[in-house]
Parts: sequence; structure tokens; C-alpha cells
Amino acid sequence: MAKLLYVTGIGPGKSEMMTREAARALHECGAVAGYSVYAELVREEYPDKEYIITPMTKERERCELALKKADEGITTAMVCSGDAGVYGMAGLVLELSGKYPEVEVYIIPGVTAALSGAAVLGAPISHDFAVISLSDLLTPWEKIEKRLRCAAEGDFNIVLYNPSSKKRKDHLRRACDILMESISPDRACGYVKNIGRDGEEAHILTLKELSEAELDMFTTVFIGSENTFKLRCRDRDMLVTRRIPVNEG
Ligand code: SAH
Repeated sequence: MAKLLYVTGIGPGKSEMMTREAARALHECGAVAGYSVYAELVREEYPDKEYIITPMTKERERCELALKKADEGITTAMVCSGDAGVYGMAGLVLELSGKYPEVEVYIIPGVTAALSGAAVLGAPISHDFAVISLSDLLTPWEKIEKRLRCAAEGDFNIVLYNPSSKKRKDHLRRACDILMESISPDRACGYVKNIGRDGEEAHILTLKELSEAELDMFTTVFIGSENTFKLRCRDRDMLVTRRIPVNEG
């Protein structure tokens, strides 16, 4: 029988935002491997699986444990929030899988925070956009600064992941200061906290206001391009990037 490991993006939180392919993998598997927060989200709906739970920082160990479990003949799903290839572990699993030649690895895509957060705000990334993580754990801060400057210069919509953490309180302010070297402080921006989870909250604000905001690590940030504006739609504000003119001709 085939030995299977599914590397599965589960979307931002609630189960409706998980793809049917991901749900099928979770239904089919005997074991679920994951970082505690995501494994717990899955456990509510799939309580009868074996759970292999590791802390956030033990990424290599988590991948090895998942590969080993699959190699024992137990179909395993390794879960990541959003998409497993976007700041996730899909690449590491594929690299480590060489040691387990009998295990077939399937990567199952998920709805990443840039997409689920954009939908909460309206339509902020309907044109070219760049995604940048402000975490300097694996990327030197100088490189992050360069990417921010280049994205601002290219007039991309920018989506920021990992805007803050307990250790890195000032990264968002520093990033906004860099963006304001070439972008107006009035530029329309937004952020969404706890997308698809309890306590979901969306805010639309200027780049200057964003630079003063205190955000946590469960937040995704959207920086507007020159074509982005706040739109009053029904009784709420939304963030929209214009791609198609309303009055054509
Ligand atoms: N693989 C994930 C990203 C992991 S990096 C994905 O594709 O979505 C972790 C960062 O993702 C967080 O700091 C935050 O910026 C963003 N993020 C992930 N899930 C989120 C959620 N439910 N709500 C808000 N932001 C989220």
C-alpha cells in the first residue's frame, strides 16, 4: 500500500475556508502533525486522529516526525495555516523527504492570509501585489528593507505578513517609515486581525496611522498602491484597488 504524506494548508481558521481537497486529506489520514495552534483547530472537527503536536520553533522535527509516521504506513496530514507553501513547511518536507523514498508527498494548497484578509477588507489586491514578511528570523533585516523599497518603487500593493511579535515590536513602524520615503503618508492601507477566527477585526487607515499602530502576530497588513482607496459600501468602509474604470468610454 502507498505510504502517503499530505502537506496541507487549512486556510485561515474556520473550516468553511478549507478546500475540499484538504478536508478529504484530513478525513482520510490516520495522523495529523502540526504546530499546536493549528492542530487544535483541526482536532475539533477530526477528534479521532492521532495527533503529533510540536512547538512553533521545532519545524524540522515536525517535518521529520510526519515523514516517519507516513513511513510507518499511517497516512499522515501535516497541517499549516493558510497555504503550506507560503511561509510554511512544504519546501522543507520535500527536501527532507529524500531520506524516506517510499513516502509519497502531496502538497495541498490552502487559502493564504493575503487572500482571506483581502476578502474581509474588500478588494485591495485586485492588481499586481507583493507579499513581504517582516520576520527577520530567517531573512536579514537589510534584505527586508530592500524588498520594501523595491515594492514601493514599483507601486505594488503590498501585503505584510508577520508584522509584529513579542520580540519585534518596532518592525511595522520601521517598515512604514521606509515605505513613506516614497509613498504619501495619506496612502490608504488596512489590516485584518484573526481572519476567519473568533475576534476577527478589520481596520482601514492611512499609512501614517498604520506606522503608529500596535499589531500582533495574528494580523495581516495591506498597503495600498496609487490606485487604492477607501470605499463606503452599504454601511461599511472597504479598501478597493481600482483595476477597471467604472465609466469606460
Ligand atoms: N502559511 C500562512 C502564513 C504563515 S506566516 C498563510 O499562508 O497564511 C504567519 C503570518 O501569517 C502571521 O503573522 C500573519 O501575518 C499571517 N496570518 C496567518 N493566518 C492569519 C489569520 N488567521 N489572521 C491574520 N493573519 C494571519
